[in-house]
Amino acid sequence: MNIDGKQTAAELRETLAISVAKLKEEKQIVPGLTVVLVGEDPASQVYVRNKVKQTREVGMISNEIRLPAQTTQAHLLEQLEQLNNDKNVHGILVQLPLPKHIDESTIIAAISPEKDVDGFHAMNSGRLLNGEDGALVPCTPQGCVILAKKHLGDDLSGKHAVIIGRSNIVGKPVALLLLQENCTVTIAHSRTKNLPEICQQADILVAAVGRPKFVKADWVKPGATVIDVGINRIEIDGKAKLVGDVDYDAVSKVCGAITPVPGGVGPMTIACLLKNTVEAANRLS
Ligand code: NAD
Repeated sequence: MNIDGKQTAAELRETLAISVAKLKEEKQIVPGLTVVLVGEDPASQVYVRNKVKQTREVGMISNEIRLPAQTTQAHLLEQLEQLNNDKNVHGILVQLPLPKHIDESTIIAAISPEKDVDGFHAMNSGRLLNGEDGALVPCTPQGCVILAKKHLGDDLSGKHAVIIGRSNIVGKPVALLLLQENCTVTIAHSRTKNLPEICQQADILVAAVGRPKFVKADWVKPGATVIDVGINRIEIDGKAKLVGDVDYDAVSKVCGAITPVPGGVGPMTIACLLKNTVEAANRLS
């Protein structure tokens, strides 16, 4: 069976719209999200357009700062300082990747941790690592856990979760979130030996590799829950197609439930970004 990310994201946005209305009524605050886009990367432009649209749809204020590709790091840092000090801005997101002359870690470190709705600031990753309250948690990993729970229910304790991928954006934070849910967590990566055997032990298998149709059917335990984070553009019969990191056609016959690509984890990412912005606004108010 498919776990429907589009539907789950729509439900989350409905809940957020209610929280936004409550913030307006009770505290006269309208959560504001500012997205900073440097340069002309076409994929980033589409993504930013979707963010703006969905932010407005839940009743929040959406602002966009578009800067040319040759913007200096110093200028970007000045912009961030203004946004950090702006009371109407509750969430700041700098769209990655940045042009090569700008150091991403310097930029992420300059965003106020309380407004870091991407959850990439060291303060937020540290809070997540320590299991402290108040962490703004990266959006795609949050989406993965919500979708796993959609199928398995809220109690994931004791389940063996295998995560393929150890990036700071997806693999590591998903692992920490599933650990918080009392899963037994294995993180696999490019140097892992016997990957198929390790995956076969998974009750929850999260694929965040960036390789089209990488996970095969005989790696998956019958009945397992498979969360496919991958977004890969490939060409089939001369036509561009979006596929995940899991060989969906074969794996969906073996597993208990799977997130399709597109329509699985993807839609959850923006919905969780809005969720983080509402949380940030609540805390800052
Ligand atoms: P990344 O390139 O930073 O990390 C990939 C990870 O895969 C690495 O940790 C690496 O160790 C592991 N890996 C690579 N080859 C491997 C192999 N042969 N065996 C085992 N592990 C291997 O990528 P990322 O940023 O974590 O993204 C992963 C995928 O998720 C990409 O397809 C990306 O497009 C997608 N993604 C989707 C969303 C979304 O909103 N749905 C968000 C972020 C990333």
